[in-house]
Amino acid sequence: MRSPTALGWAAAFLAPAAISALDALSHRPSTQLAGFLYLFAVSLAAYLGGFAPGLVASVVSTLGLAYFFTPPRHDLIPNNGDQAGGVVLFFIVAILISQLFERRRQVQREAEAASARANRLQAVTARLAEAVTPQQVLDAIVTEGVEAAEARAGAIGLLSHDGETIDIVAQRGYEQNIFVGWETFPLDRETPMGRAILEETPFFFSTSAERNAAFPNMAGLSGPSHGLAILPLVVEGRAVGGIAFTFPREIEFDADRRALKATLAQQAAQAIDRVRLYEAERALRQRMTFLADASELLGSSLDYEATLAELTRLAVPEMATWCSVDMVASDGSIRRLAVAHEDPERIAWAERLGDEYPPDPDQPMGVPNVIRTMTAEFVPDIADDLLVEAAQGDERLLEIVRELGLRSAITVPLVARGRALGALSLIRDESAPRYTEVDLDLASELARRAASAVDNAILYREAERRGDATRALAHVDDGVVLVDQDGVVVSVNPAAARILAVDASEVVGETAIGAIGAWSEIDDNAKPERGQTRGPVTLPLVLVDGAERWVSVSGVDFGDGVVYALRDVTEERLLERTRSDFVATASHELRTPLAAVLGAVKTLRREDVSWDAEQREVLMDMIDREAERLSGIVSQILLTGQLDAGRLPFEDERFDPVALTKSVVDSAELHLPSGIELRVQAKDDIPLVTGDENQLRQVIANLVDNAIKYSPQGGDVELRLNRNGQFARIEVVDCGLGIPSDEQDRIFEKFYRLDPALTRGVNGTGLGLYISKELVERMNGRISVDSELGRGSTFVVEVPLAV
Ligand code: ADP
Repeated sequence: MRSPTALGWAAAFLAPAAISALDALSHRPSTQLAGFLYLFAVSLAAYLGGFAPGLVASVVSTLGLAYFFTPPRHDLIPNNGDQAGGVVLFFIVAILISQLFERRRQVQREAEAASARANRLQAVTARLAEAVTPQQVLDAIVTEGVEAAEARAGAIGLLSHDGETIDIVAQRGYEQNIFVGWETFPLDRETPMGRAILEETPFFFSTSAERNAAFPNMAGLSGPSHGLAILPLVVEGRAVGGIAFTFPREIEFDADRRALKATLAQQAAQAIDRVRLYEAERALRQRMTFLADASELLGSSLDYEATLAELTRLAVPEMATWCSVDMVASDGSIRRLAVAHEDPERIAWAERLGDEYPPDPDQPMGVPNVIRTMTAEFVPDIADDLLVEAAQGDERLLEIVRELGLRSAITVPLVARGRALGALSLIRDESAPRYTEVDLDLASELARRAASAVDNAILYREAERRGDATRALAHVDDGVVLVDQDGVVVSVNPAAARILAVDASEVVGETAIGAIGAWSEIDDNAKPERGQTRGPVTLPLVLVDGAERWVSVSGVDFGDGVVYALRDVTEERLLERTRSDFVATASHELRTPLAAVLGAVKTLRREDVSWDAEQREVLMDMIDREAERLSGIVSQILLTGQLDAGRLPFEDERFDPVALTKSVVDSAELHLPSGIELRVQAKDDIPLVTGDENQLRQVIANLVDNAIKYSPQGGDVELRLNRNGQFARIEVVDCGLGIPSDEQDRIFEKFYRLDPALTRGVNGTGLGLYISKELVERMNGRISVDSELGRGSTFVVEVPLAV
């Protein structure tokens, strides 16, 4: 019942008093009229003040009516039953009116209260609608919600990701320190919130005693006895947390109150869910953007060192407080490629620290472990004991890592084609949220893309390097053959294919011994031990085509196989041999005429013998001839030297080849051996030629000399001259020993002489034809031979006609 207001009390006294004043205005007032007026006064008092003022007004009115208006007037003696009836009527009216209006007022109050509740709920909804972060949702609920629930304080706990613990994420209105030690607690610990979540049902306790009876372990917690409501926050049929409301007093939780709390909890749950979704969506978008940016970056360049460094910078600060990339060097050691942090000073500090504490490849955790095992390490919560373990007893290091306030870490390996190239590390400190499985997935995806970019870059570099090497190998004159550990040919450069007389495309992929005819020789003599070098050795190789070739071979084992370097030294070898042959020949050639000259001179000088003129002439002739021969040999050697040094002067003259040939023949006739006849056959129309006349003379003399020398059985030597197009053609034809066809090319080489068996011991230096060829070619002419063994030779010299 509502307490009577001052207005009601005033009406209870003043209204009857005012009516009583009518007594003064009239001498014969109507008792009925007065009675009605008093009745109105009673009604007014009951309306304004309720039951008590109505009752008081009834009494005052009864007294007023009796005293002023009921005859005998001005005394209080009750005189009839009418008066008694009036009193009863006053009372009844007072009671009825006060009841009637009281009821109306109550209904109004209730309507007002309901509307206030609706407004408060509305306020909660409005604030929740504006909330976009979890904290804003929680703030909205624990401020507006607590008020709406008529509670004094409120708190929200959310289930952790693993569903094992409850984290108190927001609270309001409690005394300080009430949650100390209760920031996070296990779900299965007997608590009202834990049970509300587990059973997905609300708990209402009118007093803390009631709560303590249900949850004895909470007994020590609360202060004075008060009401408590705990409700689960249910999203899609699953409890994600709980909300608690604490009331300032004992409270009866009627259906309305329970329904209101349930509505609040439902709103809270939906808002939390919405914000979580929003957060997840935002985080997903952020991750996708990051991944897209990272992919673009990774694809932008083949300079993977720079790209990875850029990637670490891209990850900071959104994805990580610290981001670093470590790579495995070719020697197997782990090197930090890049580290990123928002603060450059921190980066410098981290680099110094990295130098001071280089990674130990056998370390049981962290980057070395991730690289070794090719498995990611995910530490959502970096606990202190982990730091202690990581510091491995180094107090200073422990202090440093503790100071960093590291919270959460992900290290993922960069794996390509089954090989760990390095690792990517993401670390967050306490300023950022913990990593979740989703972050691990993102990091793994990022690592996968980075590894493939690095691998591509490495392959490309390798290919380029190989391309360079292949290009170089294709052009070097030295042969290079690469054979793997199993003896299979991996590559053969063109020079090697030429030297070994094989087709590179046919031998690559085959075993060297099986595919390359002469390989066993190389394998036996040049194959190095593992990691060793062998050679060079010069080996005579008999090739598939039967040809023999001298090849200098050296082999280097590089672990995965052997690379052989081959050089064809056949030419050098032959030259070497011809040179030593020449030394022998030349000394023999020089000694023979010298001995003859010396012998003749000594004979002439003998005093004990007296020579007649004829004998003397014979000896003098011999001296002359041998000296001539000596000078011929010496001048050939000198001429060769001059030719080789390019110091032989050349006169460009026009002269008659026929006259020249005839004069050579005339000189030869002077000391022609017996059995030989020289003939010249010249066409009439041979024009002048151009060149060095003296040198051509030497060439023809040489050929004539040879024709005579190599016709030991005697015979005709014919010189034929005719014109062949723009050339004068001089043929020197003999019918002497002849030259085997496979030697015909070689006789023009320096020092080359046929086997003495074939030349029947005819003397010579092997220089004559070499000199002839050189001289003719200097005149833009040509020289060739056509011969048959045992049937003579035809040497042909052609010199250009003068124009
Ligand atoms: P040499 O001083 O030995 O004669 P050449 O260079 O003039 O040197 O000749 C080289 C070789 O060619 C000779 O050793 C000889 O075997 C061969 N030869 C040259 N001319 C004739 C020829 N007319 N008949 C046969 N063999 C010849």
